[in-house]
Amino acid sequence: MKKIVIVGAGASGVYLSILLKQKLSNTDVIVVEQNAVSLKKVLASGNGRCNLSNRYITQECYHSDNNELVGKIVKSFDMLKEMDKLGLHCLYQGQLLYPKSEQALSVKQIFMHRAEELGVCFLYNQEVLSIEYHQSYIVHTNQQQIHADVLIWAMGSEAGKLSGINQSRYDVFKKLHLKVVPPQPSLVQMYTKPVIKQWKGVRIKGTFSLLEDGQCIHTEKGELLFTDYGISGIAVMQLSAFYQQGHDYQLEIDFFDEEDEKNLTEYIELRSNKGYNHFYDGLLHSKIASYFEKMSNQSVSHIVHQLKHFRLNVAGLRSYETAQVMKGGLSLKEVDENLSIKKYPHMYAIGEILNVAGLCGGYNLHFALASAYQVAKAIEREDHVTNT
Ligand SMILES: Cc1cc2nc3c(=O)[nH]c(=O)nc-3n(C[C@H](O)[C@H](O)[C@H](O)COP(=O)(O)OP(=O)(O)OC[C@H]3O[C@@H](n4cnc5c(N)ncnc54)[C@H](O)[C@@H]3O)c2cc1C
Repeated sequence: MKKIVIVGAGASGVYLSILLKQKLSNTDVIVVEQNAVSLKKVLASGNGRCNLSNRYITQECYHSDNNELVGKIVKSFDMLKEMDKLGLHCLYQGQLLYPKSEQALSVKQIFMHRAEELGVCFLYNQEVLSIEYHQSYIVHTNQQQIHADVLIWAMGSEAGKLSGINQSRYDVFKKLHLKVVPPQPSLVQMYTKPVIKQWKGVRIKGTFSLLEDGQCIHTEKGELLFTDYGISGIAVMQLSAFYQQGHDYQLEIDFFDEEDEKNLTEYIELRSNKGYNHFYDGLLHSKIASYFEKMSNQSVSHIVHQLKHFRLNVAGLRSYETAQVMKGGLSLKEVDENLSIKKYPHMYAIGEILNVAGLCGGYNLHFALASAYQVAKAIEREDHVTNT
């Protein structure tokens, strides 16, 4: 009987195991997982609600070394329809797709029920350390050797510390002479210099820009949270995706994005002409207002400039432990349009182990499952050719 081994029981690996068992008869599908359980990251995703996809999916929502390929893969996958086939009813909330139950647990339960009903074999507490190729593959784990006719890498990333922080996921590729783009955290909080301690815990709405050498490289409208190390919040997570190590960045905050500078100047002049001493009251959070009050003897134009273009130096990104994804991973230059690894036969890679990182908003789970779907179709075609 043909044996397919999938390394990693995350969203991409488990979904692929289901598709393969549905499509192929006479095939053993084995999922090898280093953790004691499957789908740890799925359970944590979307704050326990699991944001599976987004209405607006294009290649621009991803960072990778072949965005055209990523665009084709994500566009050809209909998450709503495919989840429905598994029995997972999903609904859009605005742009974002969630399970109807709004529980990531439902995703885990439905995936694991379908996989077990179809007879997928899960081997837990087994870390894959290396492989050998002699016509077919021998997979070496920390406990045993497993024979495989087809091998799929679905090892995810260390982001969030939920899928292990082992180096083996990258070492296996090095041993196979496959290019790995160095991983770095993405969708993560930022350290700032200075940290304005008195703003800790304050959440603001506004427009936030990431400046590289004084030039704006990306802008996000949304929410930001001041913390004891710097800044957090969805807008910050999105901006972090544009950060590259070794470059200098500043964050620019527009506290009054609903007003242009002219209107804001007139408004502040009016308040100061009326003789109001505390003219920030009610305009800004009290902790931010008291910070700006210290500048109240400055000119109106200077104050307006501070409110529209307040800058903090970005001192770096927080680590993989608090990141949602990692940029980097196995280079897309190593795979063809079916995510088949060009240098080795019957070997594929899916999900976050690839050098593909999406923005916040369901893009990463969408890619994880869309890439599994793409590979399932390719293996089915391969199987059909061998059997005829
Ligand atoms: C806190 C958090 C919240 C998130 N929220 C969202 C969200 O709402 N929407 C969204 O789209 N994305 C979200 N993401 C990102 C998304 O969850 C991941 O991109 C996606 O789950 C990746 O799936 P994967 O199968 O590629 O990898 P993973 O889920 O990382 O799974 C890989 C598996 O491989 C195993 N493994 C690794 N190396 C080996 C080895 N050598 N041997 C055996 N097993 C190995 C790991 O233990 C792991 O179980 C979130 C991530 C985090 C951390």
